[in-house]
Amino acid sequence: MIEIKNYIDGLFVGYSGSNSVAVYEPSTGKQYATLPDSNSADVENAYQAAKKAFPKWKNISAEERFKVLEKIAHLIEMNHERLAQAESKDTGKPIWLTRKVDIYRAAANFRFFATAAMQFSSESHHTTGEAINYTLRQPIGVVGCISPWNLPLYLFTWKIAPALAAGNTVVAKPSEITPMTAYLLAEICAEAGLPAGVLNIVHGTGASAGKAIIEHPEIKAVSFTGGTSTGAEIARIAAPMFKKLSLELGGKNPNLVFADCNLDDAVETSVRASFTNQGQICLCGSRIFVEKSIYDDFVGRFVSKVKALKVGNPFDENNFMGAVVSKPHLEKIASYVELAKQEGGEIACGGNRLELEGELSGGWYHEPTVILNLKHSCRTASEEIFGPVVTIIPFENEDEALEFANHGRYGLAAMVWTENLKRAHRVAEKLESGIVWVNCWMLRDLRTPFGGVKDSGVGREGGNEVMRFFTETKNVCIKY
Ligand code: NAD
Repeated sequence: MIEIKNYIDGLFVGYSGSNSVAVYEPSTGKQYATLPDSNSADVENAYQAAKKAFPKWKNISAEERFKVLEKIAHLIEMNHERLAQAESKDTGKPIWLTRKVDIYRAAANFRFFATAAMQFSSESHHTTGEAINYTLRQPIGVVGCISPWNLPLYLFTWKIAPALAAGNTVVAKPSEITPMTAYLLAEICAEAGLPAGVLNIVHGTGASAGKAIIEHPEIKAVSFTGGTSTGAEIARIAAPMFKKLSLELGGKNPNLVFADCNLDDAVETSVRASFTNQGQICLCGSRIFVEKSIYDDFVGRFVSKVKALKVGNPFDENNFMGAVVSKPHLEKIASYVELAKQEGGEIACGGNRLELEGELSGGWYHEPTVILNLKHSCRTASEEIFGPVVTIIPFENEDEALEFANHGRYGLAAMVWTENLKRAHRVAEKLESGIVWVNCWMLRDLRTPFGGVKDSGVGREGGNEVMRFFTETKNVCIKY
């Protein structure tokens, strides 16, 4: 049994309370590690270490900061296979995905923001004949980073790297469901020479460790990714303290397929966008809307591809899908399939939990599931399931496609499939969404703003947006 420890002031340390949390391997359903359910005393220790480290970290040159962050990127690459294995074990996601996406991106996040430390600049405004204004963007101090379970190291580093690049010191908490790669990252940071106290990793549940970060009066900014209801709770606590908040929340993303699309591309990518990571990516397109004239053709091709997807042992390279992250999550997914049936949905394929044999018999697997014959406004097609379940619904024309897509509380990402350039621009402009992908999905450039509208969040990550989030802005006006 692995005992995960907090990393505070450059050391792996014990914790104040006595509650521990079990960590499971989703592919077998067996416990393989424990972590401390840290409390406010542990967060205070982490804060004090971060506070002590801040003056020096803030004042080292951008080049020095670049060197350490780049070294972390390099060491993640050196540990690529070890981290990929650990991520698959912890999350149940297939090894091809952790190798190709999760760990690759964790290194890319550190490298990208290492260079951002060198490139970040600010503006000046010349008030003709009178004054010059320039804008300082200074590190905030100790900041908090809280991340979810679906892309553990990928999203943890997506927050930590810019926070550090901007000159802050950090108290970070990964999800208690998938803590392992954050634990391993601490070792890597120490080896890279990141000074003690610059990054502190506190493990535990949201109700204990997470809440203590939010409630800490001196942690002045928090970057959070997770569910919408958690985001609302965090905002409720943090707003009266005037903390800077970046909230990346839930989604139920529309995927609009017009009759004038390249159907081969649309089908191929829509399958990936539906079921990669067992549908547990905030960007997955789980509401598919297809123009009536190609609806039957699309559904036929889509369903036959989905039926061919292999689900099973995440460590078998041939499996496209592995296990979902936890038993409660599997139960949630199954409950939505039941709801879909009650709402009159027709299960075109999948619909069941998958019972595997031997070692994997206790694992949490679910078939990729396609549901037809539902209204766009029903609960199945409006609420976030965050699993391998999609609905396909026909639309008459562009206006109806937009009405369906913009229905509901979420607005994170959208996909549009069309070969008509004018339509692509027109629809992209009208979609209520922070991100629009035209004829593609998850094609990422780390410089672009990332985040959602409506109940999908507040603020943007990525590129200069996040460097601005992690700095305090000061305007200096000098009269001639
Ligand atoms: P969650 O909200 O349950 O937990 C996220 C993190 O917040 C965890 O580390 C958890 O311990 C912590 N937490 C929980 N309660 C807290 C509290 N009261 N105070 C402080 N921290 C608290 O979310 P999850 O189930 O881990 O992740 C799935 C959700 O994340 C989905 O809704 C998904 O759409 C969303 N998500 C969004 C994005 C995005 O970029 N918008 C990316 C990935 C996941």
